[in-house]
Amino acid sequence: MGRTGGKQIVLLFVVLFAVRAFGAGDANEAATAARLAAIRNQPLALEAFLREMPKGGDLHNHLSGAIYAESYLRWAVEDKLCVVVATFTIANPPCDSGAGKPLASAVVDDANLYNQAIDGLSMRNWPTNLNGHDHFFQTFAKFGVVSGSRVGDEIAEVTSRAAAEHVSYLELMVTPDGGVSTRLGRQAGWTPDFAQMRAKLLAMTDEIRAFIKEHDAELKAKPEA
Ligand SMILES: [Zn+2]
Repeated sequence: MGRTGGKQIVLLFVVLFAVRAFGAGDANEAATAARLAAIRNQPLALEAFLREMPKGGDLHNHLSGAIYAESYLRWAVEDKLCVVVATFTIANPPCDSGAGKPLASAVVDDANLYNQAIDGLSMRNWPTNLNGHDHFFQTFAKFGVVSGSRVGDEIAEVTSRAAAEHVSYLELMVTPDGGVSTRLGRQAGWTPDFAQMRAKLLAMTDEIRAFIKEHDAELKAKPEA
């Protein structure tokens, strides 16, 4: 009887504790919802609230598209690259300011050009009379020269930003073959006959294998840091 009574008391305690914990969760949830409702139209408070809010995962993150334009321009300066100012495309040397292709450092040092370059390489201030989709996808070609060689820095930027914003999980995507598979896909084209399509793709596989082998040799040729 005593043992049963003891068990009942323990059980009652567990039930009470569970109800209490559940109740506290409800109260926290209600307080958080009330806070969000109160600041919904206050952009600065809302930004702080959302930044601190624990988040789940970022499941479809194209790494090179997640980098700030300011970072690409900073790396272009470090790597002594140039900027084609007509399109604000980061380009390989030789640079020629007379031909509209100054050193990236010259662009960064000129506040007006620097601002225009950031707009050109990102969605900041994109001209609403132009197609936003096109402007967005054109940026990838504009920073392609620097994005391909800075993958480590890109991962560092994206992971530290995720940590600061309480994102706990990332799935990052890169195209390590420098766009060769995209080109081969275009070359292969679409064939409604799947057997033919498969044969075409298998032929491409050989080309991709050759490309990977080529890159492997390049990497092995580099002195170890
Ligand atoms: Zn995608």
